[in-house]
Amino acid sequence: MKNKKIALLYYDGFSEFEVSLALMYLQINCEVTTIALQKREYKSLESQRFIVDAIINEVDPASLDLLIIPGGEPDLLLQNSQLYEYIKAVVASQGTVAGICGGADLLVGMGFLKGRRCTGNATYPHLHPIIKAAYEKTRFTGEEVVIDTPFITATGDGFIKFAEVLKAMYGIKETILEGKPTWVAPKAGWINVSNSILVSQSAFEECNMTLIASQNEAVLIDTGYRLAEAQRVIDYLLSHNLVLKNIVITHHHEDHDANLALFSMNQGCIYDPSNCAEGVTLKVGKMTVRLFATPGHFPQGDISALVVEENVLIAGDILYSCLPIQLCYGAKPNVIRDTIEKMAKADYAWIIPGHGRIMTGAAITEMALSYIDKLYSRLDQIIDQHGNEDDLYAIKLSDCIAHIDWMVEEPAIDLHRQNKIEIFTAKQKNQSSQI
Ligand SMILES: [Zn+2]
Repeated sequence: MKNKKIALLYYDGFSEFEVSLALMYLQINCEVTTIALQKREYKSLESQRFIVDAIINEVDPASLDLLIIPGGEPDLLLQNSQLYEYIKAVVASQGTVAGICGGADLLVGMGFLKGRRCTGNATYPHLHPIIKAAYEKTRFTGEEVVIDTPFITATGDGFIKFAEVLKAMYGIKETILEGKPTWVAPKAGWINVSNSILVSQSAFEECNMTLIASQNEAVLIDTGYRLAEAQRVIDYLLSHNLVLKNIVITHHHEDHDANLALFSMNQGCIYDPSNCAEGVTLKVGKMTVRLFATPGHFPQGDISALVVEENVLIAGDILYSCLPIQLCYGAKPNVIRDTIEKMAKADYAWIIPGHGRIMTGAAITEMALSYIDKLYSRLDQIIDQHGNEDDLYAIKLSDCIAHIDWMVEEPAIDLHRQNKIEIFTAKQKNQSSQI
């Protein structure tokens, strides 16, 4: 079922190539309607002719999950009050508005990005004076894509990343590019989340260690398991003349703290669940990193780190994208669920999980919660039908997880098996104590 509703705005001279990749992904799971100010033919920047589905009055702005404004030549729309009121109504009813290139300029020129982080054509010399003046009131970053909820802005060059971000946010489960790498694809080595946030990923179960670097300072979150990922970070610190101010260990499992002794260049203290459960704020160059307790995975405690300026969370082993969520081996399923729900509500731009690829906060929390829900409902069925442990074999990992092709096969299947056994046993005990 196509449950998300998306509208794409047509106008004279809109650029089709900047949105066509995004639409190719979105139309798989979403209902896409093209809208415009008039019901007529529109000619794109690329000289193709398009017939619009509906005029904007015919599509309730409150029904939209996402409105996309393509780039092109939007100057004539700048002072269009009907469009302005429409965008305002989409936002007022919790919808997202995404503008790419000229579409970002239009949102800025209309004043929607005032005081907000954004990107677009701020440095373009022939910008309309209203747009130029409005950019000065934003926090323009110049990145390819910037999310400042409820707005997403992108540069024209960033159209591939724009498509990937929308794909991840709207929970697209399959892509027609299946098999080809995407920017979040797991691979051993560096993953650049932004200019200041770099992830060194291990060949061991895609375990992530994260370096936050700003000006000449750095903070390291987790120290990895194998030498390769730590060496990559050490080389980076040395070659960029960075002072390692602090180390943060999200929890004391050896795949996250094994290389701690290699980082003797650390100038400050080591933060871990034992000394910052109450919350600690660190400054790294221009960046602010907040540490706080996110319990549920490790009995001795877990902490997460939030890079405040970029709304990026490093979540330790509370979340995975290459394994099912760990609900066994000492983890507390109810506590971890509660922690993940809080992370979902916080709506982080990106979450760096303990293991696996980096995903938008919305997508990774949805993937985790749906795994837990599906597993619990299958286990409840077995209990209702007075089944026994043998019936657990029937609950395959692929029945419960959205991205079976992302899993690190053996450990993922082992973890799923143990999750089933421990939760089933606990549910049985619970039931017999209620009789
Ligand atoms: Zn781990």
